[in-house]
Amino acid sequence: MASQRKFVVGGNWKMNGDKQSIDGIIAFLNKGPLNDDTDIIVAPPAVYLDYVRKGLSPKVAVSAQNCYKELKGAFTGDISVTMIKDVGATWVIIGHSERRHVFGESDELIGDKVKTALDNGLSVMACVGEKLEEREAGKTNEVVFRQIKAVADKISDWSHVVIAYEPVWAIGTGKTASPEQAQEVHKHLREWLSKNVSPTIAQATRIQYGGSVTAANCKELAKKPDIDGFLVGGASLKPDFIQIINARK
Ligand code: PEP
Repeated sequence: MASQRKFVVGGNWKMNGDKQSIDGIIAFLNKGPLNDDTDIIVAPPAVYLDYVRKGLSPKVAVSAQNCYKELKGAFTGDISVTMIKDVGATWVIIGHSERRHVFGESDELIGDKVKTALDNGLSVMACVGEKLEEREAGKTNEVVFRQIKAVADKISDWSHVVIAYEPVWAIGTGKTASPEQAQEVHKHLREWLSKNVSPTIAQATRIQYGGSVTAANCKELAKKPDIDGFLVGGASLKPDFIQIINARK
């Protein structure tokens, strides 16, 4: 049976778009239809957060793709939780695999950012996921447990946290994890939360799957009991995203 937790679908636009293409995305999102039983979030590039928030239906929350662990100061090129909130965004993605592996962010920095975001009133999509060589070496659980521990150690209130399981080998590659592969890791993450945080929090915390989710594969993934939503990259830029948002319908 599919999970009873409220479905949550995020769209990560990464470093894509301009005002013209963003107007197109806003138009298809505002047209919908959007399932009322689903939390919907989009994450535009930072410079467009304000523009997107102003144009988008209030049914869709806006997220930053990243933030820094400090609230202000001499951190050239970065943005703070306070700034994200100031332009009306309410979420932030932290620990995306591109932040970890392209920009070299450590587990420790990611944990610190999660703490700053939650302490200062943002909701967080915290990402974990193994690389292909780690999966092939049988280290998937070891890696995702290490990553989730670094985040969990910094969280006292889990009510504004969503975990995104995003196997690195599936992100932007067209290679989706099978529903069974994704379910297996989601189940293990929930067991980890149950043992190391609490059974109640494990039951309540939503775990999204991310990695080449499309309109064609979302329905099968959404049937799995521990898959509570998606974090979507490429397909969130296209009208197909509406079908992914409504995968549970
Ligand atoms: C992502 O960026 O979080 C992601 C899952 O990308 P894609 O859907 O393109 O694989």
